[in-house]
Amino acid sequence: MPETTSASTSASSPEISGVTLLGLGAMGSALAAALLDAGRSVTVWNRTAGRAADLVAGGATAAATVREAVTAHPVVVVCLLDDASVRETLGPVLAELRGRTVLNVTTTTPNESRALARWATEHGIDYLDGAIMAVPAMIGARTGQIFYSGSRTAYDRLLPTLDLWATSEFHGTDAGLAALVDLAMLSGMYQMFAGFFHGAAMAAKSGMSATEFAARQSPFLAAMAHELGGFAKVVDGGDYSVPGQQSLDFSDLSHIVRASQEEGVNPAPIAAVQALIVRQTAAGHGAEGFARIYESVRATPATTTVTSTTTEGA
Ligand code: NDP
Repeated sequence: MPETTSASTSASSPEISGVTLLGLGAMGSALAAALLDAGRSVTVWNRTAGRAADLVAGGATAAATVREAVTAHPVVVVCLLDDASVRETLGPVLAELRGRTVLNVTTTTPNESRALARWATEHGIDYLDGAIMAVPAMIGARTGQIFYSGSRTAYDRLLPTLDLWATSEFHGTDAGLAALVDLAMLSGMYQMFAGFFHGAAMAAKSGMSATEFAARQSPFLAAMAHELGGFAKVVDGGDYSVPGQQSLDFSDLSHIVRASQEEGVNPAPIAAVQALIVRQTAAGHGAEGFARIYESVRATPATTTVTSTTTEGA
């Protein structure tokens, strides 16, 4: 199990003097603004000029080049589009980055983060990876979380600064772990959203608007979320036959799939859940609880098609 520590562990770390921030999109601008609000010295750079005006009015220094930006402070925060843009931006200034700390909060896959960490280490750069569980409006309000992994010394040193943005959580020295947990969280979220859209499409056949459906679905899902803890206990215990659970034989969700088809609504989201159930019932586990479908997803089946639109790290 990876080590996970929250903000309070290193509250005595010395403050850092100033920070460079590369990337002034919606998130990078929010990160920079929160640092300025806390009175930190901030130097910013963005590929397209003109995005720094508000931050400069708030006290930031705008650098004309990446080189000028990264040499301004010992800590460089990178908030760009993806792994490829990070490499494209940092590649030409590797010599200047030697001896500095790079905190990369750009969304990457775990392996992209690991490759970036190796790349940084080879060039004498202290590398910390970050994964943001928040939207820009939450930055500074500390209502979100940011996961970190990679250099523990960098995390400890930067913690008073990191805590200005959100609740900080360190997941281990394997630089890929923050991205892994981040994407695991997002996987659950997007599948919940897809389930909502499927339900809304079914309810629309009754004349109900998506807004009306959301007013019903939202409190129902909030109540159902309490089931997660029970499912988790079954998964962690490894005994899916614990009494008191609804068995897979009780329903393979065919009534929902059929209803969706009858109403002319694409059943793909619920059919995907049904397929996970069917794998387990076919293997003779129909008498076990719903949590059994964890066994259908915990390893990639040989036939799964994986679509990727991102560029893998080198
Ligand atoms: P934006 O699309 O608003 O900004 C993207 C930034 O990346 C811009 O500064 C853009 O510069 C820069 N960029 C893109 N390509 C390149 C390149 N090839 N070289 C240099 N700079 C480049 O995105 P966000 O600020 O919203 O997101 C930034 C990161 O934060 C992403 O990885 C995102 O996944 C992550 N994140 C965002 C969240 C959000 O709610 N917004 C939530 C959690 C994580 P330019 O202005 O020149 O185009």
